[in-house]
Amino acid sequence: MQIVILGAGYAGLRAAIDLDRLLRERKRTDAVILVDQFPYHQLVQVLHHTVASSAPVQEAIYDLATLLQKSEVRFVQGRAARLLPHECRVELEDGQSLPYDRLVLTLGAETAYLVPGAQEHTLDLRTYEHAVRLHNHLIAQFTAAAQTTDQQQQRMLMTTAIVGGSYTGCQLAGELAAWVDDLCRETGAPRSQVRIALVERGHLLLRQFGLWATREAERALDRLGVSVYLDTAVESVEPQTLRVAGGRVLRAATLVWAAGMKGPDLLRESGLPVDATGHVRTDRYLRVIDYPVIFAAGDCAAIPDLVEGQVPSTASYAMRQGSHLAESLLAEIEGRPPRTYEPVRLGELVSLGPEYAVGNPLGMPIVGYPAVLMKRGIETWYRSILTGKA
Ligand SMILES: Cc1cc2nc3c(=O)[nH]c(=O)nc-3n(C[C@H](O)[C@H](O)[C@H](O)COP(=O)(O)OP(=O)(O)OC[C@H]3O[C@@H](n4cnc5c(N)ncnc54)[C@H](O)[C@@H]3O)c2cc1C
Repeated sequence: MQIVILGAGYAGLRAAIDLDRLLRERKRTDAVILVDQFPYHQLVQVLHHTVASSAPVQEAIYDLATLLQKSEVRFVQGRAARLLPHECRVELEDGQSLPYDRLVLTLGAETAYLVPGAQEHTLDLRTYEHAVRLHNHLIAQFTAAAQTTDQQQQRMLMTTAIVGGSYTGCQLAGELAAWVDDLCRETGAPRSQVRIALVERGHLLLRQFGLWATREAERALDRLGVSVYLDTAVESVEPQTLRVAGGRVLRAATLVWAAGMKGPDLLRESGLPVDATGHVRTDRYLRVIDYPVIFAAGDCAAIPDLVEGQVPSTASYAMRQGSHLAESLLAEIEGRPPRTYEPVRLGELVSLGPEYAVGNPLGMPIVGYPAVLMKRGIETWYRSILTGKA
């Protein structure tokens, strides 16, 4: 059998490595092909460190060839351009065609630019490339600010507005606020002109955690000098300008869009069943509805959950879904019935700068430095299982 896995993120890489191990333990020779547009695996959940770090910013990526060198997984670097479910093959942008017996979709999510002008005039943060671009953009703005004496111009250059008060927006705001002292020292830009705004259209930050986390996040970000604007809906974006409801305008040289995500367009374009936000719909076996040989996991999938309606999109769920898929695919290969996927609620942790975090590991609210230590511990654990040191 040939199994093609599209996307080597948290879900896809885990599925590939686990399936390879299970097959080899059984001395099977089925082929596992892992495809990604990049030659590296990205730790998306630490990209905000890459943006806001003066040190070399390599900590967020791992070379896939090295990670897979002890396995039989064949890695193909390429961007999936077309899925042809009725012919059981995938076409890559470079023209390669990959036939499959089973296909696994672990393509992650794409940014949903919800208002006019957002795509053209904001930066986003979903990939390592985005993080490096944002990092370099900020250095360029601060460097330019150091070279002018016009205070209005300086303030504009040193203002960053982040749209979206969820994981990405809060973590980025916290990390940036902690970085600006170093950035000003290194570029010579005046510290007094720094402004960081976090703009959220709802009345809660980190709404998946509830009000207590919103209050903690607001307090922590406020201490770091971030201005939080709740109930502030951005209606359109122009160059260096956010237009918000009520006719107000917010000007900033750096605009970051962290306000929405959707399933990859490729899924809808290929005729697969998707929900209103373009996520491919699966059953509780992670099998795409009406497509018996296609499976999906992670942020690109809409997976039903008896408790929450739909399984949340986070790295810990994605990883476990990848492992679950490996077992299901082995069951398919061996002609056994698969098990249903049952989401394990381990909770989440969100950093608010290097010294503070909030979260609900195993359902218990936790704030402050203990939460930071716990989050770092999880990151270290993930790195060690990646590199085979756990
Ligand atoms: C800044 C930020 C901070 C976050 N922080 C946290 C956190 O603290 N905790 C947490 O649990 N979650 C966090 N998340 C969410 C978490 O990162 C995602 O839930 C997780 O990455 C989903 O894993 P995935 O495998 O579905 O997708 P991804 O990890 O995004 O992997 C998708 C892979 O598919 C590849 N790909 C996409 N399209 C194509 C194509 N057409 N062809 C080939 N390859 C393709 C991509 O290159 C990528 O490698 C954060 C997200 C962001 C953006």
